Amino acid sequence: MEDQIHDACGVVGVYRPQAEASRIAFFGIFSLQHRGQESAGIATFDGSHREHLYRGNGLVASVFNEYDLENLPGELAIGHTRYSTTGITSVENAQPIRVSGPHGTIFVAHNGNIVNSVVLRKELGEKGVKFTTTSDSEVAAYLLAYSPGLTWEERIKSFMTRAQGAYSLTILTNEAVYGVRDPHGFRPLCYGELDDGWVIASETCALDNVGSSLVKEIEPGEIVKINSEGIAITQGTVKKTQLCIFENIYFSRPDSILNGEQVYSTRERMGAQLFRESHVPADLVTAIPDSAIPAGIGYANEAGIPYKETLIKNRNSGRTFIEPTQFLRDEAVRGKFTPLLKNIKGQRVILIDDSIVRGTTTRQVVELLRTSGAMEIHLRVSSPPIKFSCHYGIDMPNRDELIASNKSMIDIQKELGVDSLAYLEMQGLKQSVAGRNDSYCDACFTGEYPVPVQLELSKMVFEKIAKK
Ligand code: SF4
Repeated sequence: MEDQIHDACGVVGVYRPQAEASRIAFFGIFSLQHRGQESAGIATFDGSHREHLYRGNGLVASVFNEYDLENLPGELAIGHTRYSTTGITSVENAQPIRVSGPHGTIFVAHNGNIVNSVVLRKELGEKGVKFTTTSDSEVAAYLLAYSPGLTWEERIKSFMTRAQGAYSLTILTNEAVYGVRDPHGFRPLCYGELDDGWVIASETCALDNVGSSLVKEIEPGEIVKINSEGIAITQGTVKKTQLCIFENIYFSRPDSILNGEQVYSTRERMGAQLFRESHVPADLVTAIPDSAIPAGIGYANEAGIPYKETLIKNRNSGRTFIEPTQFLRDEAVRGKFTPLLKNIKGQRVILIDDSIVRGTTTRQVVELLRTSGAMEIHLRVSSPPIKFSCHYGIDMPNRDELIASNKSMIDIQKELGVDSLAYLEMQGLKQSVAGRNDSYCDACFTGEYPVPVQLELSKMVFEKIAKK
């Protein structure tokens, strides 16, 4: 089992007059690959009511080739890159999802998790909807297709009153692309301007990568419509903002902007705060690549101790669909990192990690540093202990598999084999992030879920229902 948590997905939406929107969608999802590496897809409408869809399993660059993009004509496109949080990995569960309802055919790309999808699926089934996937995103798509209203804005507003949980969506109709952020704003969504059009994306890094300038982070409950008439923003339901605080810690790319602040700077502040809370004498600070590096640099700057690289990441250690053997799994960390012996031997090392899930990867990294000659290893974690699972679009192990939910600090320290251990305090984390510090979801640390969840909700819930 992997010892990482995964973001659910990345979404994009594009309007580009007189040009192929699919090419921008491709590069948009390509730069959101860190949010999902299991499957990718793009859907377009070509202005003559003709729809086009291409999806496949694997990384964005391996799913699409030049020929596939040429067969996705049209000014309007949406794209998706997926990591599953509900439903198995399969081409059928890949997105965008195509559904038809009383108002025609739409395509939907979803990042998040609809926590009342079991109830909604039952209701829609009773209306005659035939589901073809085991994903909550198909439930969201059909709920939208069957929502009442004269316009898509009205139907989306109606959808917001029924769907609970996390959803940042891009929606493609025959005449427009819509971007929708749920009333709590669990997952990010933003839009930017192209020389000749508009782009909506999960993160601002995707706008940068397609040459678009950020106009605005879409607010919770906002509906953004782009098409030949320009851009129109409508406000739907708004509830207390609950942006996932883990977007700041780990999920979002460091060059993205969240709540008006570059994530890299936020992570540096987390590292600096970690030093103020739990410093210890040492020769150098190092971090587990890549996501913990900004916090490591922040810690080192605040401590006045050199930051040094000790582990070089194998850039090609991406996700594959070939199952490793147990031997390879055990050796996985060696395949992932190579130690820089010169920087490690005889040193007192402060090792920064951004989070600890089961602890297996961290323990292997600590072992690697020990066998490479580190004299002392002091582990500092730039987030509080993860004690609860996420139900809002992040794939996390069950609670009983989370090391911090079962063990005391001293037991975790022993299990990881470090000389000392400290996590960032919740208050320190809240001080480090941009915006009002009560406007974040922190349920995986505190257990205080902002939207009630069925705690037994399983990733494979619809596979189980289908088998009954
Ligand atoms: Fe993010 Fe944790 Fe809340 Fe999930 S539970 S949305 S990972 S802060």
